[in-house]
Amino acid sequence: MRSAAAGPISAQEFTRSRDVIAGGVNSPVRAFKAMGGTPIFFKKGKGAVVTDVDGRRYIDFCMSWGALLFGHADPAVARAVSAQSKLGTSFGAATPQETRVAEKIRRLVPSCERLRFTSSGTEAAMSAIRLARGATGKARIIKFEGCYHGHADALLVKAGSGLATFGHPSSAGVPELAARHTLVLPFNDITAVRRAFDRYADIACVAVEPVAGNMGVIPPAPGFLQELRNLTQRNKALLLFDEVITGFRVAAGGAQERFKVRPDLTVMGKIIGGGLPMGVFGGPEKVMRLLAPDGPVYQAGTLSGNPLAMAAGLSVLDRILTAPPQKKLEARTARFAAALRAAFAKKGIQASVPAVGSMFGVFFQPQAPANFAEITPEHVAAYKKFFWHMIGSGVYVPPSAYEAFFLSTAHTDAQLEKVLQSVRSFG
Ligand code: PMP
Repeated sequence: MRSAAAGPISAQEFTRSRDVIAGGVNSPVRAFKAMGGTPIFFKKGKGAVVTDVDGRRYIDFCMSWGALLFGHADPAVARAVSAQSKLGTSFGAATPQETRVAEKIRRLVPSCERLRFTSSGTEAAMSAIRLARGATGKARIIKFEGCYHGHADALLVKAGSGLATFGHPSSAGVPELAARHTLVLPFNDITAVRRAFDRYADIACVAVEPVAGNMGVIPPAPGFLQELRNLTQRNKALLLFDEVITGFRVAAGGAQERFKVRPDLTVMGKIIGGGLPMGVFGGPEKVMRLLAPDGPVYQAGTLSGNPLAMAAGLSVLDRILTAPPQKKLEARTARFAAALRAAFAKKGIQASVPAVGSMFGVFFQPQAPANFAEITPEHVAAYKKFFWHMIGSGVYVPPSAYEAFFLSTAHTDAQLEKVLQSVRSFG
């Protein structure tokens, strides 16, 4: 087994990047700080395998945080992006491709009668929240502890102590005022949501990851999503599904198809960008028409609907529409999750491996958590050891105890077997 640390060239690159890039990385989790190490710098990827600057190869379960349903350097995406790059990379003006991509998304996610593209999930979530407030004339939003919806001020909020207090900023630089209107409740706790609606008349929307994917993987409790639908409807608030991870993954039509709950607003990204920067949000025509230029809710973007991202998106969506891979991938993921459970059990390691569609979580605790508070410090400590063990044996797993693992169509049975062998030598 090679050393369980980033290689010498990665280390040199980190020294160099720290000199010019804040913290050496462009997104905090990439720094591997929580794993107690320094980051690996990547050079290339093909299928399910990534290669770092030291020439080390890893079977990848991070898959750009779930963006790569068809694996790295997918030939069809590469062809589409390359062809478009010769025709221009950005016009900052309307192109037919945006309409084609939107039409295909709507076929898969019919609750999105009208759509608007952005360049990231953050922007899409931020815009959808603004739209929900504009549509309802109310200010307060509910989010769930451990769900992530990007880094807009109003969403970087942690719970206050009980319903009596306001949410508090979870980042420096976010004014109390921006956090004031955000109520943070425990995931899967419908009673807390009911109480919030009893207490506050000004709730514009409830935002939720329908399957939480930013605190490992935590599925919704039976009936939770439907109850959110009932409560929002009854209280004239909008239900917002953040399907940035679950979209096109837990079913071709996302979590809303899988759990048969139709939200008002949906936020998506990742998979449909095929690895290029893309976010999108959508909802009923009567709500989406409130967006500028037709309506009073402002939202914009120089690179929104970017031609390269649209080319990649078309390539991905065409395949999902003609030969949806989700069911087969789900079956493979379920088998792999079962094999992981068996491997841990055989070593006497207490672990749970919840899987939904082709996303799964690895928790080093006997019971899978139902919300953020149930994730144990023991899990966090054990995950760190697991991470470096896997890195050392050529498997790239998320560099955080709170992230999801993803299977792509590119992972082969032989690769999965190799990963199981690495797991069998853990602990
Ligand atoms: N929502 C969810 C559910 C996400 O997982 C993420 C990113 N991990 C975002 C929103 C934000 O997307 P982005 O990083 O593209 O801004």
